[in-house]
Amino acid sequence: MTIKPHGGVLINRILTGTEREKVIARADSLPRLVLDNWEVSDLELIANGAYSPLTGFMKKDDYEHVVNHMRLADGTVWSLPIVLGVTPEEAEDLKAAGEAALYSEEGLLLGIIKVEEIFGYNKDLEAEKVFLTKDEAHPGVKRLYQRDSLLVGGQISLVNRVKPKLFPEMYLDPAETRRIFTEKGWRRVVAFQTRNPIHRAHEYLQKCALEICDGLFLNPLVGETKEDDIPAAVRVECYNVLLDKYYPAERTFMSAFPAAMRYAGPREAVFHAIVRKNYGATHFIVGRDHAGVGNYYGTYDAQLIFDNFTPAELGITPLFFEHTFYCKVCGGMGSSKTCPHDKEHHVFLSGTKVREMLAAGQTPPEEFTRKEVAEVLIRYYQGS
Ligand code: ADP
Repeated sequence: MTIKPHGGVLINRILTGTEREKVIARADSLPRLVLDNWEVSDLELIANGAYSPLTGFMKKDDYEHVVNHMRLADGTVWSLPIVLGVTPEEAEDLKAAGEAALYSEEGLLLGIIKVEEIFGYNKDLEAEKVFLTKDEAHPGVKRLYQRDSLLVGGQISLVNRVKPKLFPEMYLDPAETRRIFTEKGWRRVVAFQTRNPIHRAHEYLQKCALEICDGLFLNPLVGETKEDDIPAAVRVECYNVLLDKYYPAERTFMSAFPAAMRYAGPREAVFHAIVRKNYGATHFIVGRDHAGVGNYYGTYDAQLIFDNFTPAELGITPLFFEHTFYCKVCGGMGSSKTCPHDKEHHVFLSGTKVREMLAAGQTPPEEFTRKEVAEVLIRYYQGS
């Protein structure tokens, strides 16, 4: 028995057979909306149930409740708006037709949306509530201010999926990961979100969590990230070398999380947890500054935010970790909770310092990054 999906039912809006044929046949006569990669990933994640209980892009009531209260209109916990922007010109056509055909930028018909509502919204309010800043230097806020001025809400149906360019075998739907966890006999599954290569601190968190769970579900985000993040393809290579050598194969499972990164810190931590519940995880790791960027969020804000919800409302259990590091005196990994020694004994490297070292072909200390991972990263930074 796997954990119940959020809202109780795993949504499936992927059409097959004659239903699919019918939609394809009438798509030509409908107004077209072209979705960018970010929107395509949201569409697919609604359709495959990763965003259960959502069945479409949000309508006004849900959108406003989410922005103001971190809940859908019916009270279900949900922390990030999942919306589709349209221009006023597009809105006119959509209203008249009642439906729109959704296309990728490459011209592939993806599905349709039932136009249930078109509404305006307050970008400043969304920025302040969701990102806790209106600063457009924040990548999530920048994206929000670029979004069209109206939102179209309504149920979606998917007829075609964009083929992943890389690692298609890593793209599994929640129904598939759930089946796999059941087959493996895992009852307690801890999920790990990452948009970075796995350093020793990440490995430590994962292995601590695995000590109290049956399986580790490595679920790296491979959707859109900001320019200076390491590309998903390079990260996947890092994950693979690491898993091969340092992780027990029978207790580790990896698949891709194709969502875009919002960098919404605390709000995104809640979102990440709920979505991983839909994939079948029972536990979710939240470390320091989860999904943060720059200095917009306090180190542990992404943990404190969970106090707003009861365990039953969330369903998935967050596992909180302090900032972890290697301590030379302890001779192992630890945190301020477990290591009594001064900072000078801790191996700490800033992201900038690590990038500089890798770009110069220098291998960071083994206490910070496994050498196999460093080798992959050095190749990437040196452009080969
Ligand atoms: P994200 O931006 O999604 O948080 P990261 O790859 O930076 O992705 O981090 C993945 C997870 O590991 C997050 O939960 C983060 O809080 C945690 N984490 C990363 N480094 C550390 C560290 N040194 N100590 C504790 N937690 C960490």
